[in-house]
Amino acid sequence: MPAYTFGPVASRRFGRSLGVDLSPETKQCNYDCLYCELGGAKSVDRFTQIAPIEGVVADVKAALARHSIDAITLTANGEPTLYPHLDALIDRLHALKSEAKLMILSNGSTITDEAIQSALLKLDRVKLSLDSAQAETFKKLDRPKGVDLEQMIEAMAVFRKRFTGELIIEILVVAGLNDTEAEFDALSNAIGRIQPDRVDVGTLARPPAYAITGVSTDRLNALAKRITHPCVQVIAPPASKQQERYSREEILATLRRRPLSQQEAEALFDRPTLTLLADLLKARAVERTESGGEIFYTPAKNP
Ligand code: SF4
Repeated sequence: MPAYTFGPVASRRFGRSLGVDLSPETKQCNYDCLYCELGGAKSVDRFTQIAPIEGVVADVKAALARHSIDAITLTANGEPTLYPHLDALIDRLHALKSEAKLMILSNGSTITDEAIQSALLKLDRVKLSLDSAQAETFKKLDRPKGVDLEQMIEAMAVFRKRFTGELIIEILVVAGLNDTEAEFDALSNAIGRIQPDRVDVGTLARPPAYAITGVSTDRLNALAKRITHPCVQVIAPPASKQQERYSREEILATLRRRPLSQQEAEALFDRPTLTLLADLLKARAVERTESGGEIFYTPAKNP
């Protein structure tokens, strides 16, 4: 049976999300990432256990009838774009979803396939992984099956030009693998070619499949700064989410270094600091902009 789950909040803009797992019984993925929270498994280039499309559609229909849903997110115990009925499923969900947005979380590997690109063009938001722009690191970290990194980056750039929805690139940082300045300079270059709406930089949040470790929030921040893109969001590892008190000047100095997303601000600032941030917004010393479905705070250009 296809499984669905309610994600906490897909994004502030898209609100309550229904997660649709296209491989509910077993992990089926063309990667075997060291950090995979599903555990290690031999990579595959196609699904062999295929959830019937009618079952998926019926489950989504039942969930939509019972709950108020702002977004439907296609995901999998593995890589959702390997689901052989993806294009037809997206069409069926479009007919059902009313105002809800349609999204997918993918490892990005199949974006080189014209048929997959055409299917994803029908979505409102596409989130693709890109952990490294260097072939050797990509191979060690994501352990892909039959994926050419350069072709994948090029195909992401082509897709971006065709796609009118929101494109997000996600980077997951692992200590000793993609946590160097050289890695992030190469990633910045690739992101410059792709031109996504937003870049999310995170590290391990749950136990990984293999013996690896994540990096600190300070390190994530330092690496994120090397990416020359206006909307880079650092997703802090849960253990280091400590909210702190900032003065007015400290808030402005932090934002001058790098714009903060609303999610980052709420993770970083304690309640009085958030009140101070609201005052700075009212006083027009700080501006709010939206990109890739997230609110970002930046210092006002002309305070
Ligand atoms: S792409 Fe996702 S599902 Fe596949 S191995 Fe990596 S983390 Fe796991």
